[in-house]
Amino acid sequence: MSTPNLDTFNFTNKKVVVRVDFNVPINEQGKVTDNTRITSAIPTLKTILDKGGAILLMSHWGRPQKALKENPNTSIASFTLKRITEEISSLLGKEVHFISNLEDSSSLNDWKNAPAGAVFLLENLRWYAEEEKGDKDFAKKLANLGDVYVNDAFGTAHRAHASTAAIAQYFDSSSKMFGKLMEQEIKAANEVLLNSKKPFTAIIGGAKVSDKILIIENLLSKATDIIIGGGMAYTFIKAQGGQIGSSLCEDDRLDMALSILDQANKHGVKIHLPEDSTIADNFSNDAKVSTAQSNDIPEGWMGLDIGPKAQKQFKEVLLESKTILWNGPMGVFEMENFQKGTKAIAEGVKEATDNGAYSLVGGGDSVAAVNKFGFHDDVSYVSTGGGALLEYFEGKELPGIKALLS
Ligand code: AMP
Repeated sequence: MSTPNLDTFNFTNKKVVVRVDFNVPINEQGKVTDNTRITSAIPTLKTILDKGGAILLMSHWGRPQKALKENPNTSIASFTLKRITEEISSLLGKEVHFISNLEDSSSLNDWKNAPAGAVFLLENLRWYAEEEKGDKDFAKKLANLGDVYVNDAFGTAHRAHASTAAIAQYFDSSSKMFGKLMEQEIKAANEVLLNSKKPFTAIIGGAKVSDKILIIENLLSKATDIIIGGGMAYTFIKAQGGQIGSSLCEDDRLDMALSILDQANKHGVKIHLPEDSTIADNFSNDAKVSTAQSNDIPEGWMGLDIGPKAQKQFKEVLLESKTILWNGPMGVFEMENFQKGTKAIAEGVKEATDNGAYSLVGGGDSVAAVNKFGFHDDVSYVSTGGGALLEYFEGKELPGIKALLS
């Protein structure tokens, strides 16, 4: 990467604008219920402060523009970032000064005169309609608040917004850089996308083929094996003539599923579909449960998890792998009776990692699954970027990365 390195950059007396992703869950009492996104940015923030900089934090939170459209009387109170100042403050061991809007000249003046080591937080960027539009004037206004720009918001790197992309053009290449989290995320993704040791197995699960089609297509030229589990597997099984009962199926994607199988064949990529499934007579944890071959599911039954044979089948593939990418659960892991398959895969990924494989887990529900089953520290890297990571693996250029490099 041709940007300065945060660890060696001289931040002495610099005013540093840091774009973070502090879109954290907040409960009705206004308390942060999961601070992972804040803790992930702390190493970047501490480095800047230790090296003599002052920080102006910028983040979005929720979708205030959508709320405003639905109800023009929506108040900033239900979207304010003020609610997270205490959490940031306790994690950094520093007071965090809040700037409630870009017209608040008194707070902006305090920021202008802030000493090294000071930390300020700007109100929710998405409260301004210009943010999501990538508005240049708005971006310039934000850029004028600092001497240096650091982007550590991997979770929003796929958005071409004012604070994630447009802003970068107002800093020259010697005064804009990636934060540590962003660096780590890119390194982990490239380890899999560009430097994978073979065999490289991608585990793709979740509900819908349509959501994962681009990632599968891009992986056909990179992976040696693709394991397909979760609800999306049944579209592939039906496309090949299997009986899937009332399992999840996208009938308008049957041809696409056949085309993927055909392309995989041409690329020499092995596609692994679950031999058997744990089936249920309705979509409920209290449903009657049984096991069936995945291509022979009786009418009135649906596959809600991969079965015991499939767990063994998939684990064998994983134990042969040297690189593993995991996106999407193998079944309805939110329900206790249908989480064995996802758990088995987590165990397989752990075992392969113990044996020296590089494993990356990313994208929404698979991250929730490894956390739920306690495997977070047993894989090589767990990505914090859901949509951003998926788009990276779909082969798309992420605006947040591109803006810093150009
Ligand atoms: P995604 O966000 O596409 O990764 O999908 C995750 C969702 O897929 C989770 O909520 C799972 O409960 C759901 N899911 C996984 N397997 C199945 C299945 N066999 N049938 C229905 N839903 C499933």
